Amino acid sequence: MSYRGRFAPSPTGYLHFGSLVAAVGSWLCARHAGGEWLLRMEDIDPPREVPGSAASILAALPAFGLVADAPALFQSQRSAAYEAAFEQLRAAQQVFPCWCSRSELAGNGGIHRDGHCVASPQPDQPPAWRLRVPDIAIAFDDALQGPQRQNLRDEVGDFVIRRVEGFYSYQLACVVDDAYQGITEVVRGQDLLDSTARQIWLQRCLGLPTPAYRHLPLVLDGEGLKLSKSEQAFPVDPADPLPALRRALAFLRLPPSGATSVGDLLTRALANFDPAALPHCSGHSLA
Ligand code: GLU
Repeated sequence: MSYRGRFAPSPTGYLHFGSLVAAVGSWLCARHAGGEWLLRMEDIDPPREVPGSAASILAALPAFGLVADAPALFQSQRSAAYEAAFEQLRAAQQVFPCWCSRSELAGNGGIHRDGHCVASPQPDQPPAWRLRVPDIAIAFDDALQGPQRQNLRDEVGDFVIRRVEGFYSYQLACVVDDAYQGITEVVRGQDLLDSTARQIWLQRCLGLPTPAYRHLPLVLDGEGLKLSKSEQAFPVDPADPLPALRRALAFLRLPPSGATSVGDLLTRALANFDPAALPHCSGHSLA
């Protein structure tokens, strides 16, 4: 099977430096493997969406030389696929309606276990739908972070796949679309390492393939905060792409080059690129 990677931003703001690193990292892995690089706009959370940001992210990427091999997939147009996956889980009795609030679950460390609800059903209010999670340890090898293991019941619990408002969760949409787009390796920020076991379990429940995973360290600012929280310090300006692109490549441990155009910079980076030489550890600070 040939390599297929993707970049899947959420339209919650303009492209920031942390996202640029994920975009460049996933692009380099795909191009290095001679594979395809796809885009997916994860616009399934209208309350968190910043108007105009989906269009601005999609317009910014080509300025950094990152051109996808197919038109972007918009999750807002994929409800029928999520509904079908949800119905498949419902038919297999793997999901259940739940009215428990966060505060009601706080006593259990915020974890919902074994399909046991704390709250009683409230027929006049819509429920969230949770996936029943067995006592199972999910193990996988992350290409950068090494062997991972998470006991879903103990560490995560029954998790929401359809929210009270009727929106499908990131976990469900991501799994359905990674399979739909034929993704063979997911390259993304380390903040999503913790979601991976849930996604692998969902893939098994839905009979979908599991891609390889490679989680890049997060870009932190001088105070150790995830960079998206302090974007102003590291602007990403599509009208002047070279400074941010050089910094993104440096973060990914590529040697500096004298290239003076975006195309040349990426070509030289690709020539020097070795996925095994990507940085592993989090806490890698730019400041
Ligand atoms: N949409 C997610 C984000 O922007 C990334 C999802 C993924 O790469 O799986 O954080």
